[in-house]
Amino acid sequence: MRQVFEGHCQCGAVVYRVTGVAATLFACHCTECQRQSSSAFGMALWVKEPVVELASGAVKEWIRTMPSGRKMSCQFCPDCGTRLFHTTVGQTQLLSIKPGTLRDTRGLKPVGHIWVGSKQTWFDIEDGTLQYPGNPESFDDLMRAWSERP
Ligand SMILES: [Zn+2]
Ligand SMILES: [Zn+2]
Repeated sequence: MRQVFEGHCQCGAVVYRVTGVAATLFACHCTECQRQSSSAFGMALWVKEPVVELASGAVKEWIRTMPSGRKMSCQFCPDCGTRLFHTTVGQTQLLSIKPGTLRDTRGLKPVGHIWVGSKQTWFDIEDGTLQYPGNPESFDDLMRAWSERP
């Protein structure tokens, strides 16, 4: 089912409207996400077949080379620096929205946690929630858990 995801950066210069199919929502506790979010973990809302419209502003892009060699396009507001989207370069069928930028952030509960090997020790993951010490070999279970969530 296609849905609409609307959000904006912290200063409001970039306002986006993404339509697509939500695939999963997870938290990443890797040190890169800790640094990027300047917090304990980052969150990712994966949207399949995304169509991105910017109602105002334009994003700036920074490319990060991952340990796997793949390149990640990191898109952010050039004025306030809020990170908005991640995509894999050359892969247009999946968009990762930084979900804290959505207009409505209620109900943003991750169905799983990855890179828990580097999570902050004070953060406890709820029993029964998917977790992986590093990058999962497959995201299938994370997508299934999302589709089966109550
Ligand atoms: Zn901004
Ligand atoms: Zn991460």
